[in-house]
Amino acid sequence: MTNRIHGCNEMKRQLEMTCDLHSDLFECADRLVLYNARFDEYGIIIHDGGNSYSVIQFCPWCGKKLPNSKRDLWFDTLKASGYDNPAKQKIPMEFTTDEWYRRQRKRNKRARW
Ligand SMILES: [Zn+2]
Ligand SMILES: [Zn+2]
Repeated sequence: MTNRIHGCNEMKRQLEMTCDLHSDLFECADRLVLYNARFDEYGIIIHDGGNSYSVIQFCPWCGKKLPNSKRDLWFDTLKASGYDNPAKQKIPMEFTTDEWYRRQRKRNKRARW
């Protein structure tokens, strides 16, 4: 996963940062951003005691455009397979990581040829 994330130094440093005090990145005030592979989205962590973050479109350090979130596509794709409530249902493994859209991308490529 680390080889395909947005690569400017500051973003990299942030995403690869580990903290001895906090194993949960939402608890660590030093962590500013996260990358959610499942949705292919970047976010600014909101340290309010929960697990929330605000999706960002541009890198806060270098200003580069970040990938568009695939959150909607994730829900739509699951829905098309009969999972209308993925939060409550046991979804296929590939949908818990970035695997699902990588596969889809491969499939699309093949279709174009
Ligand atoms: Zn910490
Ligand atoms: Zn950057």
